This record gives sequence, C-alpha cells and structure tokens, in this order.
Amino acid sequence: MLNLSKNKNKRKKAIAIVTAQVLFHMDPEVDSHQEVKELASILENRTDPVGTAYGWTSGDEVAKLIIEEGLDTIEFKSRISRYKGRRHLTEKKKNNNLKDNISDYLSKYCQKSKTYDGLIDQVQFFPDTTYKYFSDGIELNKENVIDLMKTFTEEEKVSILNDVNDKIAKSDENYELGNELEKYLKDIGDRYGIDCYIDDFERVNKHYYLIKVFIGNQGILTDFNGTFLELRSALVKEIELEAGDKVTCPYCGRKIIRFVAMNVIKNCDCGARIVVSNYRVTKGNAIYMRRRVSFRKPVKSD
Ligand SMILES: [Zn+2]
Repeated sequence: MLNLSKNKNKRKKAIAIVTAQVLFHMDPEVDSHQEVKELASILENRTDPVGTAYGWTSGDEVAKLIIEEGLDTIEFKSRISRYKGRRHLTEKKKNNNLKDNISDYLSKYCQKSKTYDGLIDQVQFFPDTTYKYFSDGIELNKENVIDLMKTFTEEEKVSILNDVNDKIAKSDENYELGNELEKYLKDIGDRYGIDCYIDDFERVNKHYYLIKVFIGNQGILTDFNGTFLELRSALVKEIELEAGDKVTCPYCGRKIIRFVAMNVIKNCDCGARIVVSNYRVTKGNAIYMRRRVSFRKPVKSD
C-alpha cells in the first residue's frame, strides 16, 4: 500500500516519483518521453510487488493512479534520467573493479610488456592459483583470465597494460628498497652477532610502510608512518636494544649479548658452558614459553 500525502503538491510529486521507480524497476531502459496513456499501458496488469520511497505497490496500482490523477511529467522525466545516470555509474564502477582486479592478478606473475597481447602470451606460464576478488565477486585464474581480457575495449586494454606495467615497476622498487634495507640492518646486526632479515616489505607511499622483520629472536610485524630513513633508524634502534640485552657469566664476569649466548656461541671465553633451557611463565590465564640462559662452571684443565 502506498502512503501518499493529502497535500496536493506533495501528492503530485510523490506519484511522479513512484511512477518513475516502478517503471525503472520494470525496465531500466524505459523511454520517459512517452504519453501518460502509453506509460499506463506498460504498467497495467503488472501485479508483482515493487518497493518504492512511499511503500510497496504494483504496476497495476500505479497505472490507475496516473490515469485518475495525472502525472507530473517534468518530475517524472528528471527522476528517470537520474536513475539511468546512477545505474550507468554503478556499471562503470563494476567494470573498473574488474579492470583493477585483472591488473592486480596479472601484475603478480607477468613481466613488463610493450603490448596487451604480450601480457596474454604470459598467462600460460602462471601457476594454478585462483584469486578471489570480493569487490566484484569474481575469481581469477589462468583458465578464465584470457577470456575476460578479450572483453575489454581497445582503450581499456591500454589502461590495463599501463596499470600492470606500473604495478610491476612498483613491486620491483619495493624489492630493491627492501633489499637495501636488509643489507643495512644485516651490517649493523653483524657488529653484535645479531641476525637480521626482512620477510616482507612494502612501500605503500613515501610516508607509509608495511614491514615484517626479524631482529635476533624477535619477529616484528608492523606498519610504519614516516620516511624510509626514519623507518631505518627505528629498526637500528631495535637492534641496539636487542644488543643491550646482556647476560653475565658468573664465573668471569663477562657480559654477553643474550641473543649471542642463546644462538651463536656454546662457551664463554673462560670456558664456562652456556646452557639454554625452556621455562614457563604464567600471565593471567595464558602460559608462555620462555628461554633462559645459564652457565655451567668451567672444568679446570690442570
Ligand atoms: Zn665466563
């Protein structure tokens, strides 16, 4: 049942809106320049319920309304053209999503290419992995991507090709930058005997990084707001912190970096044996396993 105002002007406007919504629902390509009689004949005898801004109705009910009370054709036409415009936008957005997702998928495995067909030629060498893209509800793999790639216009193909090449360039750049950072951290780590390596590195933009790095026994997974140099010095600080964590040999008083005592050496300079054992820590309801370093008295050689 429609809930229409008693106020004459409001009611007139509401009927135009309802008519536009029901007709657009029945046929998104509807021609809004038809006579009221012709519009009514499209609506007549259609009894399936349609939801509108003024409640549920049916084509048949709306046909009776516009025949009895007339139709504000200016309001009606402007509504229809607005709905068509909006639908056009949604479809464009859907298509853009598909384009984006295809470029994303291709850039994972392709080498840079001068032509769109050059990308297609590489698909046969892709692994059999399927990627699910939720933004357009599509799954992409080497079996279906070529057919989809052929559906685009020439203009769209050029934009996909450029996009894929840009993405490959960016991931090469991430790889280079990640390597550079790892080399730098390794050099500093080596001074202390602390292992450093980078598991994952992505430069999202000049001031935002995603990184997974191991410094000694610590795995650090983080996002970082700042420049590359700031990120680098933050990680160097972590190495220094790790290097500052020392254990003392009770027999000779030598201070040894905990990571080194646990992972690198077996004996202190004085001959004391270094033993690493596990122990439990209870915190609230959780139990954590920790590793402890202890020293065994050096055996006298004389
Ligand atoms: Zn010692």
